[in-house]
Amino acid sequence: MNSLEEFKDELETCFGTSCGFCERGCPVYQSLKVKTLCMKGRNRTMLGLLQGRFEITPAVVEAAFECTLCGNCDRWCSLKNTEHTRAFREYLLKHGIAPMKEHASLVASIKNYGNPWFQPRSARNRWTRGLNIPKAAPGKQDTLFFAGCTSAVMKPLIPSLVASAKLLQKAGVKFATMGQDEPCCGSTLRRVGQTEAFEDLEKKNLEKFESLGIKKIVTACPGCYTTLKESLEKAGSKIQVVHVAQEVSDLVKGGKLKVRKTHEKMTYHDPCHLGRLGGVFEEPRDIVKAVADLVEMPNSRYESRCCGAGAGLQSAFPKLSRDLASKRIAEAKATGATTIITCCPFCETQLRTVPGIDVVDLMELLLDASENEKDIRDDKEAEK
Ligand code: SF4
Ligand code: SF4
Repeated sequence: MNSLEEFKDELETCFGTSCGFCERGCPVYQSLKVKTLCMKGRNRTMLGLLQGRFEITPAVVEAAFECTLCGNCDRWCSLKNTEHTRAFREYLLKHGIAPMKEHASLVASIKNYGNPWFQPRSARNRWTRGLNIPKAAPGKQDTLFFAGCTSAVMKPLIPSLVASAKLLQKAGVKFATMGQDEPCCGSTLRRVGQTEAFEDLEKKNLEKFESLGIKKIVTACPGCYTTLKESLEKAGSKIQVVHVAQEVSDLVKGGKLKVRKTHEKMTYHDPCHLGRLGGVFEEPRDIVKAVADLVEMPNSRYESRCCGAGAGLQSAFPKLSRDLASKRIAEAKATGATTIITCCPFCETQLRTVPGIDVVDLMELLLDASENEKDIRDDKEAEK
């Protein structure tokens, strides 16, 4: 990964251009209207630091961390802005700035427990109880289901993992899990600037996956999806990484999962890591369209607005984070939808903090719609 110094030419390009196109889609800037908190301002701050024009002050640290790394600014600009911000955080830590205390605790937990949430390693396997999923062993399976730290250890999110596993089993997909040995993908470490710890973890993870002889990883978490995909591709690994929405959408299209459609109006929230950063837009929509009537929010696909949970914003700047969630929920409600569907544990938890509309996980939605196969047959008989 590039250091901040290696981005100096890009920072100068931004300074020379100063177009400000990045302002319009930046959720933080649109919420706070503070010039140093959009990429135009942040790039200037970084350049000023590299040129020795000023020192690291609390305002500089805030400018580095008050960003969700949602990637909306990259949409409007040819520069690698989210990478600049990640490198900025790394630069500050290297220059002796202590991590924000909320981030320091996440990092300590990953090092001690293998997850950012201070949950014992044994909690990681809790969601698999009663599902009869084999544990991955060398050469025994091609497909690994990778739950991700947050869904696996946070009780309210467990139903989405159970739904994913049941849908795969229902369609006859053979897969294994790593049980309580499943590692953290390192996304949090990377995004709060802990590059060395992240690179150490990604190397160990690659060795684990390769030693199991896995050919494909199906993950339920968009953050794990982009992180594992990038890590494995960078290492030249042939292991394929997909999000469970991609896997399951193929199963629906191929007729391996039968679905009952209603005409309820539902909208879909693109998780930043799956959509804009991961390029997966259509498969989750195909699932929603198979189950209900999809209505789009004005800001969707590449223009989707971040829910406010990403890159440590939720823990370090809770008020701003909640404001972003409120704005997204208001946008969803304005469509007339009864429900907002998403497929990310962070988006799901974050959007549920704002009342006013049902927030439902995509896999749970699909499992509900696919369970009554007898009803589907009865409907088809009645239509004849
Ligand atoms: S970050 Fe890109 S879009 Fe924003 S001001 Fe700089 S050059 Fe323009
Ligand atoms: S990554 Fe998102 S929050 Fe951060 S500056 Fe870019 S648009 Fe704004």
